[in-house]
Amino acid sequence: MELTPNQTRPSTQTVKVGNIEIGGPAFTVIAGPCSIESYDQFLETARFVKQHGASLLRGGIWKMRTSAKSFQGLGAEGFELVRTVLKEVNLGLTTEVTDPRQIEEVHDFVDMFQVGSRNMHNYALLKELGRTKKPVLLKRGFAALIDEWIKAAEYVTNGGNPNVILCERGIRTFETATRNTLDLNAVVYAKRHSSLPVIVDPSHAVGIRELVPSLSLAAAAAGADGIIVEVHPRPAEALSDGQQALTFSDFDEMMNRLGRVLSAMDRPLQKA
Ligand code: PEP
Ligand code: MN
Repeated sequence: MELTPNQTRPSTQTVKVGNIEIGGPAFTVIAGPCSIESYDQFLETARFVKQHGASLLRGGIWKMRTSAKSFQGLGAEGFELVRTVLKEVNLGLTTEVTDPRQIEEVHDFVDMFQVGSRNMHNYALLKELGRTKKPVLLKRGFAALIDEWIKAAEYVTNGGNPNVILCERGIRTFETATRNTLDLNAVVYAKRHSSLPVIVDPSHAVGIRELVPSLSLAAAAAGADGIIVEVHPRPAEALSDGQQALTFSDFDEMMNRLGRVLSAMDRPLQKA
């Protein structure tokens, strides 16, 4: 959708994810580990982030790793522990599916399917997600144009599933000091040129724990509909992305700072 500068932007449609609604006045915090590693690790993290304001959990079951030798996720062995934790904590889960066959496998306990950055152009996967009714979190490819990202979403929406949320997670630039470069241009541009909710993943964007909270606040100030952040009880022991995982005390402190930004903007935090 193209708008001239003086046209008003399309209003954001809301997307229902389990019991919460993303894209409305409330700002949503999605949090959890990069990878679900064990019952204890996932339960401990889920309880903590819920107590401190997260209303949806994240956690990888199948991991897309740069090296085939790295931890690839628990896969089907993790299903039972995930179901148990979600019941105990009473929160929904977003998890990445990397293959169309996985959609059916996790359909009964997942509230939102995540399409990872490396799969944004996987049109077979997007078309299959268009045949489901569950929401889809579409990460931006790390080398994708904003327009390609918005068009990728249409593979899902045109397929019959209007419930798509866009996620800016950093793009590859000439910079090497940080893992990627958070493109806040993309957030404000996508909010103006698409009616889909837009959230930010500061963890993969910057890749450095100490820098994640400030980018979360920047995302809120820029008008994003929420954030998705990685949290681990003991980042040094994490099987993936430990260097960017917030500790519990980091998360607590970030949520306090975020609360102040949201109240300055007159936006409530999404309740679980
Ligand atoms: C993730 O969310 O853990 C992940 C792999 O993200 P991305 O697809 O953005 O790299
Ligand atoms: Mn990760």
